[in-house]
Amino acid sequence: MLPRWHIFWGAVFTAILYYYIPNAGRLNLFLVFLASFLIDFDHYFNGLIKNKAWTLKANFKYHEGRRKEEEKDIKRGIKKNGDFHLFHTIEFHTLVGLLGLLWVGFFYIFIGMVFHSLLDIIYLSKTGKMHRREFIFFNWLAKKI
Ligand SMILES: [Zn+2]
Repeated sequence: MLPRWHIFWGAVFTAILYYYIPNAGRLNLFLVFLASFLIDFDHYFNGLIKNKAWTLKANFKYHEGRRKEEEKDIKRGIKKNGDFHLFHTIEFHTLVGLLGLLWVGFFYIFIGMVFHSLLDIIYLSKTGKMHRREFIFFNWLAKKI
C-alpha cells in the first residue's frame, strides 16, 4: 500500500480513537498516527541498501521498479519473496508492545503499527501478494543461514 494511503487511513483511525477515547491524550494519539505510516521506513532502508537510493524520490523510483517487477511475476504465476521489512515482523511488533510496559508511548506506537500491518495484510491479500512478505523475523533469518 502506498504511503499516502497509510497516512490517510492512519489519520482516519486516529480521529476515530480520539472520538471514542479522548482521554488517551493528544501526544499518545499523535504517536498512533505517526506509527501508522512511519513503520514503512524499513522500505526506505531497503532502497538505500540495495540501490543506494538516498533521496525519497530515488527511493520511490526503486520501489516503483520493484512493484512493476512483482506484478509481471504474479501475472506469469511466479511467486518470489519481496524485500525483507524488519519493522513489519511479528517480533518487532512484540518488542515495541513489550516496551509499552516501560513507557506508555510505546503502547500507542504499537497500536499504530498493528493498524498499519492490518492494512498491509488486507492490501497484500486483495492483490495476491501475500507470498512477497515475510512476517516472521526468525523465518527470514533461517532462510539466510
Ligand atoms: Zn507497510
